Amino acid sequence: MLADQPGRNRKTFVEDYVVFDLETTGLSSNYDQVVEISGVKVRNHEVVEEFSSLVNPGRHIPEVATDVNGITDDMVREAPEFRQVLQDFSAFAGELVLVGHNIHRFDLPFLYRDAQNYWGRTIGNDYVDTLQMAKICLPGRKGYGLGSLAQNYGISTVGAHRALADCHMTQKVYEKLRGELENRVREGCMRICPQCGSPMVVRQGPMGGFWGCLGFPFCRCTVNIPR
Ligand SMILES: [Zn+2]
Repeated sequence: MLADQPGRNRKTFVEDYVVFDLETTGLSSNYDQVVEISGVKVRNHEVVEEFSSLVNPGRHIPEVATDVNGITDDMVREAPEFRQVLQDFSAFAGELVLVGHNIHRFDLPFLYRDAQNYWGRTIGNDYVDTLQMAKICLPGRKGYGLGSLAQNYGISTVGAHRALADCHMTQKVYEKLRGELENRVREGCMRICPQCGSPMVVRQGPMGGFWGCLGFPFCRCTVNIPR
């Protein structure tokens, strides 16, 4: 899991992965700290193992954060520090692709920062952000929040905003989005990149339309549309 380069942001549906989620003292990956990390390991689309730990952030948890996740100073007083917990999570996740909702902008910056502080390294796992996947697979929706997507599919939101419950919700939403992409491919408005497995959409270039891979910039595959 530790590496010198961060993993790639992949726009794909993989069969084996680890969904993870953080609860924190606030929204800033500069100033805030992790208070809980959970993960669910998935093999061939099925959850096979769970990981969950509270974390002692070494500081007071502001009420605005407790109001969201219900985690109080008392609950984390006896919990291990994140240096230990991140090491345990790392062993749990191994080299599997990390999946999570809004992890590109929110959760991963916390992990990158702390791995850098503790060990001078970063997290090398490739990852899939289900928020980005939802925007690709369900264009034109009003809300892309995890709760809103879960409700859309009749997935239970009981326990939302605690990390493990959010992991299970995210895992189910990810599998539903896989079906949405398959529908779009069947309808002919998307296709799957032959090189990287990401969705491809029609782009307009000076020579006319072509299929462009959303795995750009890691994948630059294009497919011509015959006139
Ligand atoms: Zn591609």
